[in-house]
Amino acid sequence: MTLTDIRDQFPILQQEVNGHPLVYLDSAATSQKPRVVIEAIKRYYELDNANVHRGVHTLGTRATDAYEGARDKVQKFIGAAHREEIVFTRGTTTGINLVATSYARSVLKEGDEIVITPMEHHSNLIPWQQAALATGAVLKYIPLQEDGSILLADVEKTITERTRMVAVTYVSNVLGVVNPVKEIAEIAHRNGAKILIDGAQSTPHMKVNVQEIDCDFYAFSGHKMCAPTGSGALYGKRELLNKMEPIEFGGEMIDFVELQSSSWKEAPYRFEGGTPNIAGAVGLGAAIDFLSEIGMDAIDKHDRRLAAYAMEQMSAVEGITIYGPSRNRTGLVTFNLDEVHAHDVATVIDNEGIAIRAGHHCCQPLMRWLKASATARASFYLYNTEADIDRFVQSLRNTVRFFQSIE
Ligand code: PMP
Repeated sequence: MTLTDIRDQFPILQQEVNGHPLVYLDSAATSQKPRVVIEAIKRYYELDNANVHRGVHTLGTRATDAYEGARDKVQKFIGAAHREEIVFTRGTTTGINLVATSYARSVLKEGDEIVITPMEHHSNLIPWQQAALATGAVLKYIPLQEDGSILLADVEKTITERTRMVAVTYVSNVLGVVNPVKEIAEIAHRNGAKILIDGAQSTPHMKVNVQEIDCDFYAFSGHKMCAPTGSGALYGKRELLNKMEPIEFGGEMIDFVELQSSSWKEAPYRFEGGTPNIAGAVGLGAAIDFLSEIGMDAIDKHDRRLAAYAMEQMSAVEGITIYGPSRNRTGLVTFNLDEVHAHDVATVIDNEGIAIRAGHHCCQPLMRWLKASATARASFYLYNTEADIDRFVQSLRNTVRFFQSIE
């Protein structure tokens, strides 16, 4: 499959919205789903549906094979050393909360430090705030440069031997910047800290290898990478996961249950209590096959090229401010137009069938840092084309003209 005929694989993109062919530029919020993923979920429910890890009947075996097969696919996709290092979750938020609740609270003491950045999504900020509040640890921030990027010299200054935990996003969902996570992991480890990477915006767009980064934890969401909502995974180094206490208790995660006490299975099963999202895992596996067939390097190149093209075209729009560094970024552009609120921009261009996101993007501290109450964001994925961007930029120009005419 080539990137040129990919659009045809996404049924949702074949429609008109408000009388215009849909241009979907909100993949950083959630991606659309290709036919192969939709079909895999349908096939699972039509042919294989049963509960996993319990039934000895044929459907139970098929469902378990499909679920555990998806774990193997995730392991390979992100370069983990062992399949037991992959915990299925509802997505990035759930994965980070598991680490911040189970791992962090068991190791943090008063005066210890947790280090994050001001560009973190609320999902990689509030769990650490809560861990700090619960343990008396201090939450510290690596400062941002004027363009929103991070300097390694600042990372060196912020992480100290009191730092027990570092949590950083690989790619910012607002600035689009790719952070030097491998270098940050090295600095964290040199100081005796563990590091979690928020992979929500990196996993869909680039080849990821958790062993190369040498991170301790890595969380991502399926729905941003062509898989269904409610799917995702947390990677954790095996020795760390097996030391961590579960935070949800019930069926499937136990070894022995006595009247007064119980013991847990090894990871990952101790963190997967209750009936899991089996169809979600099947869909995630199908999405991984789909993306792998196209090739993550080809997708990465495509998304970066589109973002560069968009930035070039958008810079010529009157009164536009584009946020984030000009280099080292992936497929999204966040911006504001003078005198037009981001929500108005998104509403006006929606009338022309173009979907973008407007708001604080779950990054209120970063919005304050940008001195913006809200921003608009166009984000690109493998099914977008330069023609989509041309329509979007033309629509931005129309918006500027419209608001000038009513002033
Ligand atoms: N981190 C980042 C950088 C994100 O962009 C998002 C989703 N917008 C999340 C975390 C949270 O992902 P989810 O809502 O899928 O848990």
